Amino acid sequence: MTRRNLFSFLAAAGLASKADAAPQAALRADIVPLRLTAGQWRDRLTPQQFAVLREEGTERPGSSPLNAEKRKGSFVCAGCDLPLFKSEHKYESGTGWPSFHTPIEGSLGFKTDFKLVLPRSEYHCARCEGHQGHVFNDGPQPSGKRYCNNGVALKFVPEVA
Ligand SMILES: [Zn+2]
Repeated sequence: MTRRNLFSFLAAAGLASKADAAPQAALRADIVPLRLTAGQWRDRLTPQQFAVLREEGTERPGSSPLNAEKRKGSFVCAGCDLPLFKSEHKYESGTGWPSFHTPIEGSLGFKTDFKLVLPRSEYHCARCEGHQGHVFNDGPQPSGKRYCNNGVALKFVPEVA
């Protein structure tokens, strides 16, 4: 385990106890589920996107160009293009992953995972159920939430001026 991975592990483990109250947002009625087979997803996605979205992988911190994305626009699911976050929801958390304090209402589903032994609140796209990241309770006010997102699971769509 590298020093960086160890830090990520400790950070996630330390925060996990605070993450047990997953926000239970009602899914929007206008979202029609998109269900594809694993083979169809492999055809649509890059191997990196598939590993995160369909197998709940985690990208290396600091690896996403979206960390530095500061333009006005929307962050949409890389699997199905559903808008999940707006640029005004993004903030610099210092973790190396794109971070948001608020999602677009009803765009995410939540579940608890135990991959690091302690429970974490996993969240995913409400349309295609593609894994996006985990939500923690150490974000900025007023939401107090940190949606720690894999950049590879998102696409940025700049607002047209
Ligand atoms: Zn999606």
